[in-house]
Amino acid sequence: MKPMNKETALVVFSGGQDSTTCLFWALKHFQKVVALTFVYGQKHVLEVEMAEQIAAEAGEIARQNGLNEGGGDVEWHKMDVSFISQLSHNSLTDTTMIMDQEKPADGPPNTFVPGRNLFFISVAAVFARERGINHLVTGVSQTDYSGYPDCRDAFIKALNVSLNLGMDEQFVIHTPLMWIDKAQTWAKADRLKVLDLIRYRTLTCYNGIPGDGCGECPACKLRNAGLREYLTLTDGREKFTRRKIQTLKS
Ligand code: ZN
Repeated sequence: MKPMNKETALVVFSGGQDSTTCLFWALKHFQKVVALTFVYGQKHVLEVEMAEQIAAEAGEIARQNGLNEGGGDVEWHKMDVSFISQLSHNSLTDTTMIMDQEKPADGPPNTFVPGRNLFFISVAAVFARERGINHLVTGVSQTDYSGYPDCRDAFIKALNVSLNLGMDEQFVIHTPLMWIDKAQTWAKADRLKVLDLIRYRTLTCYNGIPGDGCGECPACKLRNAGLREYLTLTDGREKFTRRKIQTLKS
């Protein structure tokens, strides 16, 4: 096992599959982990409650799983950025809108919250700076980016440079899921020994149903298809392709 980094990381933590995987990734790689959950007018407040609960237990689970022996508990914070829902209309915060089931040809689906990752990561950076933290972790992925432009690598790198210039700091934005798909994200969770925790106790569903979710919304379809692919592949673990295993080592 790689030795833990002696530093602290701040994880942008929604309580969904991706950010929970990142939370445990951070617990493995950093001495101390701070998790920041944003309230931005999302329809399902249960998401925030579940995030708080997972964060409360994550340190102990990580210790039991041997990810960070001697590591501490996760320090959890909640930040209200609900002004975001007043800036634009999207189906994640507007209860009157019917959610796009597919990405339209001419742009992102209406589940896209414009500026969300820009605001989240910028606020996280200021929050981190106050605490002398320069490592930020986010679960964005270009591979399964669902048409959201602010999940792409070029945006994150540009934002990293902007934050450093804007605050004269040396932030490092870590994106452990950037180049892996949902099946590989499940594989990563399995390697961190939290596959079942993430499967049953996180909330990714746009209809607010925890675990395997409603099964119908775009988030559930993506998450569940990845889970099926991973569970099928791991039926014969050796069938897992070399490319995927290579990615997971990173
Ligand atoms: Zn769903």
